[in-house]
Amino acid sequence: MKILISRLLIPTLLLFSTGTHLLAQSGFDADRAYDDLVAQCDLGTREPNSVGAKAAVKFYANILKPLADEFYLQKFQLDDPYSDQTLDLTNVIARFQPENPERMILCAHWDTRPRAEYDKQFPDKPMIGANDGASGVAILLEIARQIQEQPLNIGIDIVLFDGEDYGKPRDLQNYLLGSRYYADHPYQPVASQVILLDMIGDADLTVKIDPVSYQSSPRVIEEIWTLAANLGYDQFKWVIGAAMYDDHVSFIDKGIPAIDIIDFEYPGPNNRYWHTHDDTPDKCSPESLDAVGNTLLSWLFQQ
Ligand SMILES: [Zn+2]
Repeated sequence: MKILISRLLIPTLLLFSTGTHLLAQSGFDADRAYDDLVAQCDLGTREPNSVGAKAAVKFYANILKPLADEFYLQKFQLDDPYSDQTLDLTNVIARFQPENPERMILCAHWDTRPRAEYDKQFPDKPMIGANDGASGVAILLEIARQIQEQPLNIGIDIVLFDGEDYGKPRDLQNYLLGSRYYADHPYQPVASQVILLDMIGDADLTVKIDPVSYQSSPRVIEEIWTLAANLGYDQFKWVIGAAMYDDHVSFIDKGIPAIDIIDFEYPGPNNRYWHTHDDTPDKCSPESLDAVGNTLLSWLFQQ
């Protein structure tokens, strides 16, 4: 994703963290989620047309197909803007209660960058994307297991996007390829709320509020951040962070409310692991996946 410029004021909301996890009973298994983060990285780099990308789609299908009520691979092709090749892209879609008109999309991008432009040594080599790629998917795979065992009141579409991170710096139109395609070709009935996870595995997790998300869905942000505090997760901060140009924008552009839960300080404000070969599993932690995964799943059980 890229950063947009925005100035936004948020209301004062006192988040009170109890420091305990007494309310955390969603069943979310953060160790299993972390194993899935590592397993994705073990497949290699997962940029479009790569061997790792093909293996990743198989990996997701093996887990999600037996869990979901309906499972689809949404395949599409685009001319590569940077070569003579054709890009073969795949969104992975797992639907739960597909007939339920009350539904949400939970999503993350699964692709990794074909370059690591901020890496000092190898800026032109594709990257492994432990946090920027594997972390959001890892949480959604575990949520899929949980909602198969304990059905929610609402229908869920878990959608894993390809091609989010394809663009060269500042070339915004070549980012968000999978989510734009999905937003143009959604499965029916269409969800009324989108929750995007991206870069939430950072061992030093600090989840500030994306102002684009807050403008779109203030109530959802307030509920999730308040619940996180009540669950004892002080990683969620009631502070406006950088404005995100990420897959949620594809839905906001279509009039569908969408939020991005993201920590764009990896590991700190200088973001020095972002889009480098230092974005590896050892920089991520099960505790961070637990903070986001357990909060999100607990919130879903309240819907
Ligand atoms: Zn990225």
